[in-house]
Amino acid sequence: MAEDGFDAAAHLSKVQDEIAAAATAAGRVLDSVNLVAVSKVHGAGRIRPVLAAGQRLFGENRVQEAEAKWPELRAAYPDITLHLIGPLQTNKIKSAVATFDVIETVDREKLARGLAKEFQRVGKHLPVFVQINTGAEPQKAGVLPEDADAFIALCRDELKLDVRGLMCIPPIDEEPSLHFALLAKIAQRNGLDQLSMGMSADFDTAIAFGATHVRVGTAIFGPRPQPPAA
Ligand SMILES: *Cc1c(COP(=O)(O)O)cnc(C)c1O
Repeated sequence: MAEDGFDAAAHLSKVQDEIAAAATAAGRVLDSVNLVAVSKVHGAGRIRPVLAAGQRLFGENRVQEAEAKWPELRAAYPDITLHLIGPLQTNKIKSAVATFDVIETVDREKLARGLAKEFQRVGKHLPVFVQINTGAEPQKAGVLPEDADAFIALCRDELKLDVRGLMCIPPIDEEPSLHFALLAKIAQRNGLDQLSMGMSADFDTAIAFGATHVRVGTAIFGPRPQPPAA
């Protein structure tokens, strides 16, 4: 347990049990669901007990934060896999490619081209997911569902990106299953078999709809500390 008394390892264990139950209920093998532990905002002190408990796959949403936090943890646990799950600005591509193992948030042509160029330059072709804005929310990142097929084709065929699957963040006030089903449908017609969907509140539903990656933060690490008000 961490010095602050919060037992993240116990929370992790509970989430693992719930994932197993959801996979079984959906008639899926447990191996087909990967838990991405979302450690954004939390410090290394809260992450270490989760590493000690065996978790190796993590998600962060800010490049700068991950750059500062993870090198030390990676030195202790070289088999860590780190997913970028937040928006990526083109001026941060170099840092992102140096810091992360998988980019889940490819959502526009300029970013896709910039990543392709950087992968070429460093000779490292990270797996990527295309983020789909399933709710067509104006403020949210992601390719619109009707533009998805053309964008995936651009990424794969022209830019030779290693597109593994799709990612979505459903609107907070809507039934998530409609969005999970839509994401699965777009993936299927494009021959993609990985789906990053489902968070603390709805990962069991996401697993029923075929999620291969659930991104769970709060249920493992507890509420995120709020930054001081400006
Ligand atoms: C923060 C975040 C999560 C985790 O959300 P919780 O509700 O804390 O589980 C998942 N996905 C993305 C993209 C996030 O930014």
